[in-house]
Amino acid sequence: MKQLSQKTLSKNKIYTIEITGLTHEGQGVGKLDGFVVFVNGTLIGEIVDIKIIKQTKSYAVGSVVRIQKSSDKRIEPFCPAFDKCGGCSIQHMSYDAQLEFKTDNVRQNLRRIGGLDNVQVNNTIGMEHPFQYRNKVQYPVGTCGSDVVVGFYEKGSHNIVESKECNIQPPESNEIRDIVRDFFKTNGITIYNEKTGKGFLRHVMVRKGFKTNELMVVLVVNGKKVPKADQLVKLLCDRYENIKSIMVNVNTRNTNIILGDKNTCIYGQGYISDYIGKYKFNISPLSFFQVNPVQTEVLYNKALEYAGLTGNETVFDLYCGIGTISLFLSEKAKKVIGVEVVPDAIADAKRNAQLNGIENVEFLVGEAETVIPKLYEEGARADVVVVDPPRKGCEESLLKTLVDMQPQRIVYVSCNPSTLARDVKFLHENGFEVKHVQPVDMFPWSGHVESVVLIERK
Ligand code: SAH
Repeated sequence: MKQLSQKTLSKNKIYTIEITGLTHEGQGVGKLDGFVVFVNGTLIGEIVDIKIIKQTKSYAVGSVVRIQKSSDKRIEPFCPAFDKCGGCSIQHMSYDAQLEFKTDNVRQNLRRIGGLDNVQVNNTIGMEHPFQYRNKVQYPVGTCGSDVVVGFYEKGSHNIVESKECNIQPPESNEIRDIVRDFFKTNGITIYNEKTGKGFLRHVMVRKGFKTNELMVVLVVNGKKVPKADQLVKLLCDRYENIKSIMVNVNTRNTNIILGDKNTCIYGQGYISDYIGKYKFNISPLSFFQVNPVQTEVLYNKALEYAGLTGNETVFDLYCGIGTISLFLSEKAKKVIGVEVVPDAIADAKRNAQLNGIENVEFLVGEAETVIPKLYEEGARADVVVVDPPRKGCEESLLKTLVDMQPQRIVYVSCNPSTLARDVKFLHENGFEVKHVQPVDMFPWSGHVESVVLIERK
């Protein structure tokens, strides 16, 4: 019989390991007895004592017991819940080091997957003040004994971690969370239990318009009417006169999806407004809106610059969401056609164009990979194409159509460097070349990086 020589690491032993790399999410990686070991909260060059908490055939996961030698890029995380909370993954890394890490991540992907050895990647554009940058928070609600807990999910689980002050949210959302929690607790209103599907309050969402200062509070409930709603409305509005909207969102399904389809307004109007650049947007509970409005403006201005418009161009804005990029482009283009698969987002996009008095944009519902080949067959052409796909990138069939269509420029906005690299490779092999790569930090203290890339016809 063949002998299996599978080594194992002991869970009862302390190992010392040197961290030699970082994953794209910013998790430290080292090697022990031939095993790849992932260790959260560590940095390249550090020597750490770890305990093994998980092991599979090909890798292990360790947790830090002691740092023997620390990196000069290490800083003290500002959040006391950092070790547990699933929200931020690289708060132990200085902000400058984070920006370098993100630039490097994009560069490595373009080299390794994209085969672009000499590509120049600009330094990631960071935030001057990388705190309180999110305009939306969705707190899950649960119980701990008889107590109501409102916080964030723990890393890799649905246990709720309470963090008194989450410093990537505006301060109002911390306080609104506490007001809602105390109200439900004092009034003995039940809290939803994921396992049984019973209980009333599921999530508390707070949205803020950064330029308008308007606030929206959404209670996501498994039921219909919030008991004593008038009292809660008064508590909230007495505290913040800039609350413009309090909504109840009904979600009675046993699902991980946070919001249900039905909203009722229990105070004010059904939406808040905000601006990106000079464009105004109305945001309702279900509307998609970029969560970091300051950096969104930076990103869109880069996209507009790379589009190089003179006023005569027809532009396709693919994966257009609520039409934000389309509106940015419209001022300098002859015509913009936005394509997006979610019908509600297109309805928002049309409303947003109207709200801003913009008439040279048109929005179509459908998959980009279906709509664009059809338009192309019917004779439509674009001089410039902007794509901003979800993490999985573009379908090859769409890229093929773009290659056939031969636009002058493609501006690729990406939230995932590896699919960006794959798609850029295809375009590079089919008559296009990468001119500029600009990462933008939309999510400080997390490993995510957004990039905008200018690709031109050779
Ligand atoms: N450009 C927008 C949204 C980008 S997010 C903005 O900056 O705000 C990506 C968008 O692609 C989402 O709105 C998602 O609904 C949409 N989407 C996903 N798959 C798609 C497809 N196959 N065709 C068109 N749109 C798609």
